[in-house]
Amino acid sequence: LNKDIVIGMDIGGTVVRLGAFTCAGEPVEMREAPIEAARGPQFGLERIASLVQSVIEKLHISNFGTGTGVNIHSKDGGNLVGIGVGCTGPLDLIRGTINNPYTLPTWEDVPIVDFLVDRFGVPVSLENDADAAALGEYWQGAGRDVQRLCAVTVGTGIGTAYILHGKIVRGNGGWHPEGGHMIIDPSGPKCYCGGSGCWESLSSGSAIARVARELVQAQPDKAKTLLDLNAGDFSQITAKSVAQAARQGDSLASEVIDRAAEYFSLGIINIIMMLFPDVIVLSGGVMESFDLFKPTLEKAIRRHEVMLPANQVEILPASLGYHAGVYGAAFLMVNQ
Ligand SMILES: [Zn+2]
Repeated sequence: LNKDIVIGMDIGGTVVRLGAFTCAGEPVEMREAPIEAARGPQFGLERIASLVQSVIEKLHISNFGTGTGVNIHSKDGGNLVGIGVGCTGPLDLIRGTINNPYTLPTWEDVPIVDFLVDRFGVPVSLENDADAAALGEYWQGAGRDVQRLCAVTVGTGIGTAYILHGKIVRGNGGWHPEGGHMIIDPSGPKCYCGGSGCWESLSSGSAIARVARELVQAQPDKAKTLLDLNAGDFSQITAKSVAQAARQGDSLASEVIDRAAEYFSLGIINIIMMLFPDVIVLSGGVMESFDLFKPTLEKAIRRHEVMLPANQVEILPASLGYHAGVYGAAFLMVNQ
């Protein structure tokens, strides 16, 4: 019986999640704790180390100790193979550092890989969180063993990842491609990335909320349900409440969702035309309302069956939820 354990963690803007798995992908422990980024990276790193330590102790697995270089054998002989880390970028994958003061205030040039190697004496790997989540879905989720898997996460922004034969496809210099910033409509809104009309500026959760706020402000009488859901305050409107109002028959909310669904479909069509994957796995808060996007998407796919049998691309909701990143980070160490 192979008792080797891999640990995966997902460092997000608010929470660090950690899971220990057998190399066959069976989860054996899950933990999470607030990251409290504002308290500084040293605080965060110590919190992460104590989560790892607590799992090591609970599972009686051995690692190489705190820099002693001596392998402490466990009672039942299991070994910690390594620790995979998924984190919200920008990251320097070559130096193993997190440089993300945007989502993790104070976290500039934080050497997460060196810190964990020094502390636990095992191999450590760092990966962009969108790529890690896609790998997780490939390993144990909706895209299990799919040879050409594209993952699209629609939340505050839009993230994309491509897994080809079980490996993340990276750009030159290890950069993570940013499919959310492909241009869908050059006459669209300006994006912080320097472009205009990027996919995420047209169909992400923030785009849906922004368009709804603008329209409601102009025609409040057309959006009674949506306003009621937000205590009459248009500035409180979220993408989730727009979807909810659309379900309840609010015509303005439906108009906003339909428009976002058109733009969403164009992005998916671009992916199909560029990559023609076997499967596209959808995740993120906005995709919890995928049923509202689906009719528009299916229509768009039917329009694009001239060059390719676009309807053969399976479009599936992700199945691991917010644990996908933890699974994928662990898989980095299985698949070294
Ligand atoms: Zn952009």
